[in-house]
Amino acid sequence: MINLKQFEVWFITGSQHLYGEETLQQVARHSQVIAESLGRAQQIPVTVIFKPTVKTPDEIYRICVDASVSTNCIGIITWMHTFSPAKMWINGLKILQKPMLHLHTQFNRDIPWSDIDMDFMNLNQSAHGDREFGFMVSRMRMNRKVVVGYWKDPEVLEQINMWARAAAGWHDWQGARFVRFGDNMRQVAVTEGDKVEAEYKFGYSVNTHGVGDLVKIINEVADTDIDRLTKEYEAKYSVAEELKKGNARHASLRDAAKIELGLKFFLEHGNYKGFTDTFEDLHGMVQLPGIAAQRLMGAGYGFAGEGDWKTAALVRAMKTMGSGLPGGNSFMEDYTYHFDPDNQLVLGAHMLEICESIADGKPSCEIHALGIGGKADPVRLVFNGSAGPALNASMMDMGNRFRLLVNEVFAVAPVESLPKLPVARVLWRPYPEMKTGCAAWILAGGAHHTCYSQNLNAECLEDFAGMAGIEFVLIGKNTDIYQFKNELRWNEVYYQLNH
Ligand code: MN
Repeated sequence: MINLKQFEVWFITGSQHLYGEETLQQVARHSQVIAESLGRAQQIPVTVIFKPTVKTPDEIYRICVDASVSTNCIGIITWMHTFSPAKMWINGLKILQKPMLHLHTQFNRDIPWSDIDMDFMNLNQSAHGDREFGFMVSRMRMNRKVVVGYWKDPEVLEQINMWARAAAGWHDWQGARFVRFGDNMRQVAVTEGDKVEAEYKFGYSVNTHGVGDLVKIINEVADTDIDRLTKEYEAKYSVAEELKKGNARHASLRDAAKIELGLKFFLEHGNYKGFTDTFEDLHGMVQLPGIAAQRLMGAGYGFAGEGDWKTAALVRAMKTMGSGLPGGNSFMEDYTYHFDPDNQLVLGAHMLEICESIADGKPSCEIHALGIGGKADPVRLVFNGSAGPALNASMMDMGNRFRLLVNEVFAVAPVESLPKLPVARVLWRPYPEMKTGCAAWILAGGAHHTCYSQNLNAECLEDFAGMAGIEFVLIGKNTDIYQFKNELRWNEVYYQLNH
């Protein structure tokens, strides 16, 4: 699990010298109370750092520089308790390199009807102070999140939570390394993309290693480590009889453990946050990594099959964002449909590699044939995904921009048992309903590969796309196909002009 408390969000209050020392002291006290309350709130997963009130262009510039170069600062929260003339903010905002949340709040929740006087009005004027600040940020065409409401309001805390998680995912991408073993699956379009543009836009690098480099590491794995890991498999999963120690196919379980240990070593020593492989390039590998990919995802690594580096990076970002929340995030593929008019469903799965973090109950560890790749039968974890609200997120390279597409779904328990299906699987109903959801996905050019999330919401991913400066498209409860097509057309014009 990735520890989000290592990340800092700085709470910065703007004001000016007009009001005198006494008012500024009150501003500072109130800001400190709010910052400390956010820092203590159960819903806020990161560390909130109170910063002294900024009152001059120099102070504003300095704090924006400091936030931009600070290793642990993942974003800033700004609030104008009083009026902070916004031309003072221009030079600071120009240099700011971290995501910003503008918290449009007020220290008091209610108007003190019987006591309110002009002193109170002078102190509590964010209703117009925040408008002045908002104008400047809009005038500068800067992305930011605006959250409105009383600072103890649970909805406000939830919005800050999801924004902070998006900022953590974004921070995690900066300088991140992803490794590809082999190229993209031959002739596949959507898993391709511009890796140079991705590094420029997203901050992570994607580089290749011949699968032989990995095989060499796998072959050096010690027998004692394999013993330990196969025991861990038997303790944690319902391992099939034939795979258990002393039984016919135990050697295959040991091969799978050896692959997992080799991959883990390779990732740790190369300082990688995720990887891709492809069944078309497994020279020297005994099996396609199945349980290895599933468990490495479970440990927080990004992964996607068939050389799909964009999805591998997205899985890693979403694992960072979802860290500590119940439920999981996994590589996923829309596999096959149930077109029963009364219960239309998508069955999501992959050849093997679905993350154990989304499992409902204890996975079983099994071995079955795999019709592609030409290698030995791979060991894999088989389970059903948990029921409940979820979403699929997909990243495409549209040629002149990246598009992050999200479809909100509702996962359901399997209608019947699936005794012959040898892979982990999830059943879901897309919003707004099957036909519109799938049509909109196809019109938006959505990939067959996604990151499936049980614990992040669409707003979090919209915040994330905003931080990256890329297009965000949502298919949700209110999607209307006519409006959706227009949105795609209008976005096309916007990104042509804004390129
Ligand atoms: Mn696939």
